[in-house]
Amino acid sequence: MSKNSFININPKTRDKSIKDENFSNTKKETLLLPSKNINESIYNSIKSSFKNSNNLSLTDKKLILIVLKSYEKTINNLNLEKSDFVLTKHEINEFLNLEKKNILRYVVYRYKYNIYPKLKIIDEYPPNIQIEPTSQCNLRCIMCYQSDKSFSSKSAGFMGYMKLDLLKKIVDEIEGKIEAVTFASRGEPTLHGELDEFLKYCDGKFLGLKLNTNATLLDEKKINSLLSSDLQSLVLSIDEKNKENYEKIRVNAKFEKIMKNLELLKNIREKNYKNSKLMIRISGVKINTEQNVEEMNQFYKEFADEIVLVDYDPWESAYENKINNIEDECSELYRRMFVWQDGKVNPCDYDYKSTLSQWNANKDDIKSIWNSKYYNEIRDLHRSKERSKIEPCRRCIST
Ligand code: SF4
Repeated sequence: MSKNSFININPKTRDKSIKDENFSNTKKETLLLPSKNINESIYNSIKSSFKNSNNLSLTDKKLILIVLKSYEKTINNLNLEKSDFVLTKHEINEFLNLEKKNILRYVVYRYKYNIYPKLKIIDEYPPNIQIEPTSQCNLRCIMCYQSDKSFSSKSAGFMGYMKLDLLKKIVDEIEGKIEAVTFASRGEPTLHGELDEFLKYCDGKFLGLKLNTNATLLDEKKINSLLSSDLQSLVLSIDEKNKENYEKIRVNAKFEKIMKNLELLKNIREKNYKNSKLMIRISGVKINTEQNVEEMNQFYKEFADEIVLVDYDPWESAYENKINNIEDECSELYRRMFVWQDGKVNPCDYDYKSTLSQWNANKDDIKSIWNSKYYNEIRDLHRSKERSKIEPCRRCIST
């Protein structure tokens, strides 16, 4: 059990998917349709884009055909197999927001993101890459590694800011190879003085450009920079609708300030960015049984397009958690890769002190890291049910 009594959830395993029951769309119309109608409409859109496509790779064609088959099975109430794939609720929300020309790209990307980890397929590049503009954060949330002073204190040596040149090097390599880039990880991206340049450099290069922020530092300038960028998704980390609970979780944050910032974001968005395709998500970590996604929706619906609660992993005590006997492979090893502010590359952010890392993006390229011997050795140990030999995998509940 966590040392903090507000955390009363004690998960045994964690998979990273957003569960339908923890997702709520604030603009209910589309998801109120019977699911059969939604599935048919998605099926028809994919099919028609597929018919009109002429430059798909063989792999992409194969994956789209699997997805179309999966939809046929779903529409006819047949069981899906491990390699089948249909979109979940939050993906449907993204799908409905896509420009037509990006439909097949999105389907292929989501297939790789969701199904490659299940089938243990290693693509040339990870389906998603997390880039951390800074490891520094202004908050000390109770479920976060920032509450570990041996990580977040200045003298520990983990704090810093990414150089624009490093960001450019990474983007130059992955453009056209990786569809989804998330600016996030161990710190608060909006603390970076050059975030606007980071965003500008990514303009038009990715299908799923996302940024996570605790929203405490938003002001007019930052909001305009975010809303005028090519971000497809802006995630605001807020877990509670109640002031007392919010401040218990997000230590150093003030509820009134968050509400003020949400109001400002809403006003600027409505006034100047009415036609923007950007989706705003309010996303919290479910650390207490009382947190409820529908109640959050009622409270925050005017400020966001979707509300999500993600499953908790005891990140705050990653290196002290009890050694467990989980033998399942970790999906992160096939899905995402993390580049930190100093260029260090790590397979996950549970291991926030990068004990697993042997690479640096300043000198190594992303493709060779993802396919390196050492990365594959970690995967092999997971595959042969020996993750207990790896620190901190043996304490981690991620599957
Ligand atoms: S510590 Fe190991 S098991 Fe946990 S998320 Fe990282 S790679 Fe996966």
